[in-house]
Amino acid sequence: MISRRSFLSRTATIGVAGLLPSDLAIEQKPQRRRIACEEGFSLPELIDAVDLFMAKHANREPGIASLIGPGGKFPRMPQLLDPVQRIADMDRAGVAVQVLLLNSPGVQIFDAVQANELARLANERAGEWMRRWPGRFAPLAAFAPQDPERAAQEIERAVKSLGLRGAIVNSNTRDAYLSEPRFWPILEAIDALGVPLYIHPREPRSDMLAPYLAHNLQGAIWGYAAETALHALSMIMAGVFDRFPRLRVVLGHNGEGIPFYLDRIDNRYMTMNGGGTGKLRKLPSAYFRENFVVTTSGANRAPAVRMCQEVLGVEKVLFAIDYPFEKDVEAVAAAEAVPMSARDDEQFFHRNAERVFGIAAA
Ligand code: MN
Repeated sequence: MISRRSFLSRTATIGVAGLLPSDLAIEQKPQRRRIACEEGFSLPELIDAVDLFMAKHANREPGIASLIGPGGKFPRMPQLLDPVQRIADMDRAGVAVQVLLLNSPGVQIFDAVQANELARLANERAGEWMRRWPGRFAPLAAFAPQDPERAAQEIERAVKSLGLRGAIVNSNTRDAYLSEPRFWPILEAIDALGVPLYIHPREPRSDMLAPYLAHNLQGAIWGYAAETALHALSMIMAGVFDRFPRLRVVLGHNGEGIPFYLDRIDNRYMTMNGGGTGKLRKLPSAYFRENFVVTTSGANRAPAVRMCQEVLGVEKVLFAIDYPFEKDVEAVAAAEAVPMSARDDEQFFHRNAERVFGIAAA
């Protein structure tokens, strides 16, 4: 439960006592600059394509099939599609800028040609929103790992020509992670551009799905975090960050739980490797601390946020909501109630995001 006192003391102007936090956010013009770093969007053309794909090939994507049900349609939330409603919601919640991510599963279920076309279309659309509402959106580039060379070209085009701020992958592509060397041309392009790669969740790979389905754990309740953490750890263990030492990766949901486990991961890794770093140059935690930042999407309560700040450093933890899947006003209120110094607050709510995603300061 967020106390009204702590919310008021951090955001409110004088003379609004007695209002609930949700009323407050509507009434006031927030002074604090907030950048929300994992905010989903989509386009009707993509959802149409997902529906067509699932009607024909539900067996190839059992995770999605399990979430939408037999013969079901992909959720068509208006908030994913309508930038005008989005801007109004941002203003209501006190969010200055959204980092935009193409909603899961992105383009990763399609054949390579269609996936490339849809990635291009999504990036164009995000670029249009960015130009129409200057300063409000910082989109990341969708790409099709199915064709690594074309993916690398599209990321470069989207960043250099459209001004997009990084790249986004919705975890596994047809059961494969970016730890596999065939995908490394993509990582090479992202590294050369000096922009971050956001690894966003989706359902666990089909070869690991069955035990999740038994109790409906495949979605955001747990499967998303397990899937995405495994993806990230696979990249560390595959030596991705020895090959690309400057590559920056962003994980949502407080690092998908990894910060909580870093000590144990190192401890067991050393035990398995005679006390040393094995085939890696450094211990696993060193890559996580140096190459990763985390956002607080869907998890803005104090214990988890502060644990990440303590383990990784205040400069590595970025505010996020996970719009439109999480309630934006409540997420802002929860984040505002996390005890932090004024300086740490500024880093958490906007300075870290400005640095990581190359967003101009206000
Ligand atoms: Mn999300």
